[in-house]
Amino acid sequence: MSLQFKLSVFFSLLLVVSFALFSLAALGMPLNIRARIDRELQSIASEALRQARATSRTDINAVKVPERLRSLEYANTFFVVVTPNLHTVTSSANISPDQVLDKDGFADPPTINTLDLGNESLRVLTVPVEVDLGTTVRTIGYLQVGQLMADVRDNVRLTTVILLLSLAALASTIFITIFLMPNILQPLNNMSALAVQLTSADDLSRRLPDDNQPGEIGQLTRAFNHLLERLENLFRTQQRFLADVSHELRTPLTTIRGNLDLMRYMGQDDPELLGIIGDELERMTRLVNNLLALARADVGGVMIQHERVELDTIFLDVYRQAQGLGRPVALELAEVDQVCVLGDSDRLKQVVLNLVDNALNYTPEGGRVTMSLTHEMGEARLTVVDTGIGIAPEDLPHIFDRFYRADKARTRRAGGSGLGLSIVQSIVAAHRGRVEVQSQVGQGSTFTVILPALHSQAIQPSQVTATVA
Ligand code: ADP
Repeated sequence: MSLQFKLSVFFSLLLVVSFALFSLAALGMPLNIRARIDRELQSIASEALRQARATSRTDINAVKVPERLRSLEYANTFFVVVTPNLHTVTSSANISPDQVLDKDGFADPPTINTLDLGNESLRVLTVPVEVDLGTTVRTIGYLQVGQLMADVRDNVRLTTVILLLSLAALASTIFITIFLMPNILQPLNNMSALAVQLTSADDLSRRLPDDNQPGEIGQLTRAFNHLLERLENLFRTQQRFLADVSHELRTPLTTIRGNLDLMRYMGQDDPELLGIIGDELERMTRLVNNLLALARADVGGVMIQHERVELDTIFLDVYRQAQGLGRPVALELAEVDQVCVLGDSDRLKQVVLNLVDNALNYTPEGGRVTMSLTHEMGEARLTVVDTGIGIAPEDLPHIFDRFYRADKARTRRAGGSGLGLSIVQSIVAAHRGRVEVQSQVGQGSTFTVILPALHSQAIQPSQVTATVA
């Protein structure tokens, strides 16, 4: 059973039940008013008889018009007392003498009848005035009290009009519910149809039509489209990643196989070819290690150590190590503040190493690389500045992407795999830090890693929950 059908039935039923309750209440109103008039007539008759009995029990002339009927409030209430021969004994001032209210009422009193007076109705109560003679009861006359039922008539008319209008409103609401509901729910139908298409066609490029509708359905449509966009991006990244990995592994494998074939053909080992094979194997090992590190970071990997790390010590270690490489680039230390962070010293060392390695790789002979570490406003700022080739503005947003190389031929020759900065970013993120980069082509680049510095009271080791490979 579709949601649309369920909602239509639910709302229609709700309307029908509300209408039924309203009709009952509206129809009950005239009955209530009539009951109230009847009670009033009874009360007036009882009052008149009670007063008469106080004067004389046997004289019909003792029955008088009750005092309260003289007030304006009772202008539409009539009172008459007659003898058994129907001669008027007394009557209220608002009817002519000798006029009885309900001729048929004397047939079998007490009675209460409604008389139709054309435009109005009159409710009349007839009661006998009786004398108890011990063995028999003698009727010495009759008393009639009547009241106009103008209210009842008006009410019935008004109620009928209201009920007819409500019935029309009910019918049109049910009609609108049944015919408009499909339009309201159309976006949901589109959504489910698209979801089915996506699973069967594997095409994540489709989107729901979004006409900027306000409200929940509009929000759901946008959220659904956003989700599809993210899925599509993830899917594309995964496909590109696989293609890149295969490509990166095929290149050294082809070189190794080519050199082995050459040596087999020559029938002897060649130190130069063996050296090339060794280099390629090293490159492949580095690549596989990097991939493993990233894969672990992606799935949550190994928990990083929650230890107090003296960043300045690591920093100086890397500086010394890089100096030993004997590159034709000047490596300088600007300032080194003592600063501690909470995390994993091996991973943090890898961050500094990757940045310094890049700076040395992408700075031509005679250039300069300057390293500095400062402690500013609760943050450790680790900066590596080079006077190298720089990065073009169009490449800057992508340099942290896996396998991205700004200058493909050059960086491959330099042994880069395009994974170094991705690893830097994932480690820094796991330490709740960020990496910033500024660069100008031909002028050089500045990479800054910002990490929360450790204050002995502020951060407790147990608070760090990030994980990285
Ligand atoms: P790679 O192993 O190729 O160096 P990275 O992820 O470390 O991979 O860097 C990605 C790309 O960013 C590099 O290929 C290079 O084009 C660019 N890059 C990184 N660091 C620098 C730098 N200091 N100067 C110029 N370009 C850089």
